[in-house]
Amino acid sequence: MDEWLEEQYKSIGKVAGYLWNKGWAERNAGNISLNVTDLISHEERDGLSFSFFYQLEKSMPALGGQIFLITASGSRMRDVKEHPKRGLCLIELDETGSMYRILYSGKANRPPFPTSEMPSHLTIHHFLARERRPERAVLHAHVTETIALTHNTDFKNEERINSLLWSLQPETTLFIPEGVGFVPFRIPGSYDIGEATIEKLKKHKTIIWEKHGALVIEKNLEEAFDIMDLVAKTIAIYFKCRMAGYKPEGLSKKQIGDIRDTFFPSE
Ligand SMILES: [Zn+2]
Repeated sequence: MDEWLEEQYKSIGKVAGYLWNKGWAERNAGNISLNVTDLISHEERDGLSFSFFYQLEKSMPALGGQIFLITASGSRMRDVKEHPKRGLCLIELDETGSMYRILYSGKANRPPFPTSEMPSHLTIHHFLARERRPERAVLHAHVTETIALTHNTDFKNEERINSLLWSLQPETTLFIPEGVGFVPFRIPGSYDIGEATIEKLKKHKTIIWEKHGALVIEKNLEEAFDIMDLVAKTIAIYFKCRMAGYKPEGLSKKQIGDIRDTFFPSE
């Protein structure tokens, strides 16, 4: 068990370091969750100790019996990078998906509690499980560029955000052909923001939360980070052009169409 868990801790610690270095995880901002149900064997699971069950505000039947690694309450990404074990917790839902308990290695000290943003993460994982989607990782960070962009009232609009992102560099059409979803401001960590997000996740894997940051779902955390990084870089190009005193010309609709025809010919 320890070896398996070490590997997961290492990979999450790496991504936590990226978020900190990018400046997207001030204080205890940002959180990470990973559905590890398929990665852990029954024997490994049975070798773990567990806490009492804690009630969830909403029942999530499709997550019954599933296991997640999730950032701990109050954990700072810069600390998760250095000491992933202290900044993460392993949780298991009961068979009905209405309660969770904390799993820990018998040798470990008292385990930490999960982040207060757990409800929105579980709401998203519940949606992914119900829809039998392949994504297992949920990554949220306070991406400076997306927060800054949504302070511009022109970009509190999904269509305009996507037109901008696709026009700034070919990469965004290549790697985010479906565009990003935009969620108007909601209270952080609430079921409400989780619900609004899953509406958008029906068509998108990348979500911009107005004046709050970004959330990406992917098969693994490294890929989720790659997409987040791409969105941030693209918006940074826009700001650099504006700071240099000009509006970016942007790729034309025809150029963007040609990229789509070249790389996604069947669509
Ligand atoms: Zn947040």
